[in-house]
Amino acid sequence: MLFTQGEIQRQVDELAGRLESSLADGEVPILVGLMRGSLVLMADLVRRLSSVHVDFLSLSRFSQSESGSGRARIEKDLEIDITGRRIIFVEDVVDTGLTLSYLTSSFEARNPKSIEVLALLDKRARRIIDIPIDFAGFEIGDEFVLGYGLDYAQLYRNVPFLFGVDDLDVLVRQPDAYFSFARELMRGGEEAQQAAK
Ligand code: 5GP
Repeated sequence: MLFTQGEIQRQVDELAGRLESSLADGEVPILVGLMRGSLVLMADLVRRLSSVHVDFLSLSRFSQSESGSGRARIEKDLEIDITGRRIIFVEDVVDTGLTLSYLTSSFEARNPKSIEVLALLDKRARRIIDIPIDFAGFEIGDEFVLGYGLDYAQLYRNVPFLFGVDDLDVLVRQPDAYFSFARELMRGGEEAQQAAK
């Protein structure tokens, strides 16, 4: 157990508060959610902001062996024109930083007013490219995290808290290995989640 649903909600309150107070009078930022991990964070964030536009982006990530370059490709592009607009990429977790570094450099060419990054989780120790995070939530270590939008094999996105998995082999062998753990703590609510920390 890393962060209970209460702790996450307080962190999102704080991130949204900082973003809101950075807005100029009448400024409407575009929050760009990276599909699909940012879905829950996006839903929680936008409901705390007074004025916001929302769009989504989907990337396909190539491994080194598939593409030869290890680069990403935009699979679903934005629908809103970002020229002259304040863009905030919303990421569940920044790990190596490769995704955001690719995105920020390729979106500069579209002439937005500015590009910023908001991330709930920061795996700083694993960074390959030093990408600045303008609105950063929790810093975590090198562990695989599930819940609050983050998945393994499309599972666990619905879990309202965040938990880490030390042994990925367990998930590889049995993707639903943590179902009973998650279900019990979802049922038990904040109190049970605090007790599991
Ligand atoms: P980066 O390009 O920064 O290495 O990768 C960031 C992306 O990798 C995240 O948006 C997420 O999709 C995925 N990712 C990184 N760490 C984790 C993790 O601990 N759990 C899950 N489920 N996905 C992760």
